[in-house]
Amino acid sequence: MKLLEGKKALVFGIANHRSIAWGIAQQLYQHGAEIGISYGIPQLERRVMPLAESIGVSFVEKCDVNNDEEIGELFGMAADKFGEIDVLIHSIAFAPQEELTGRFVATSRSGFATALETSAYSLIALTRAAAPMMRNGGSVLTMTYYGAEKVVPNYNVMGVAKAALEASVRYLAADLGPDGIRVNAISAGPIKTLSAAGVAGIRKMLRYVEERAPLRRNVDQDEVAKTALWLCSDLGSGVTGEVVYVDAGYNILGMPEPPGSW
Ligand code: NAP
Repeated sequence: MKLLEGKKALVFGIANHRSIAWGIAQQLYQHGAEIGISYGIPQLERRVMPLAESIGVSFVEKCDVNNDEEIGELFGMAADKFGEIDVLIHSIAFAPQEELTGRFVATSRSGFATALETSAYSLIALTRAAAPMMRNGGSVLTMTYYGAEKVVPNYNVMGVAKAALEASVRYLAADLGPDGIRVNAISAGPIKTLSAAGVAGIRKMLRYVEERAPLRRNVDQDEVAKTALWLCSDLGSGVTGEVVYVDAGYNILGMPEPPGSW
């Protein structure tokens, strides 16, 4: 059974074949959704185009989510192409690399502003642009990480940005719920992607989780995408304002220790 037959989805945040957003786009496509893709910087067109073509997507447009004019143009083009949309995927984050290592107290004013604007405010900006196109209700989904709640080495200002993102999910969900628009986040465990490579010690983090998570492994893009599918389809019709974990259970642990160490 196809869960998104006749539905239309706009996906932001595909950088390459490892991107979580790419896993989600494939899953939505396999379930019948018509898809539009937006990427962040011109250099990515070369990587994104072949992926888009492989799932029959003809709407592939650049949009810097920190630029209101570009957001306006992008949604204007999307309105011409799709009329209405049902799903918005926001899979975007950025902080300057020097902020993702070393002491948190050294976080710069500009690094803080950049991280918060790109990784949290952009959800508000994209949702505001998408909402008028969700005339029959819709589903907005963003990606977050456990570093929003607990201190994770080197995640630093991105943890603060994700905390702002998760709070924005709740405020947007309350605001747009009366219009039938649901807003949720998936909190994914660490996955090797371009962005993740920017966090110092990511390989150590992957090994740490693999040894301790209840499922004794890491998760992959496809597992995040399957959860995205239920949240964005009718299977998730009663769920809004939530952060859903896809992290092999890591977040439930109060005292993560490798097995056999007690
Ligand atoms: P990714 O493939 O590098 O995706 C990040 C995307 O953000 C890229 O497509 C990037 O595009 C986009 N982006 C950054 N600044 C932008 C801007 N100003 N305008 C438009 N797009 C912009 O890495 P990913 O791991 O899949 O990340 C997707 C989301 O999942 C992020 O929110 C991340 O924090 C979250 N997440 C990741 C993990 C993990 O371990 N990988 C775990 C939990 C949550 P450009 O390069 O073109 O700017």
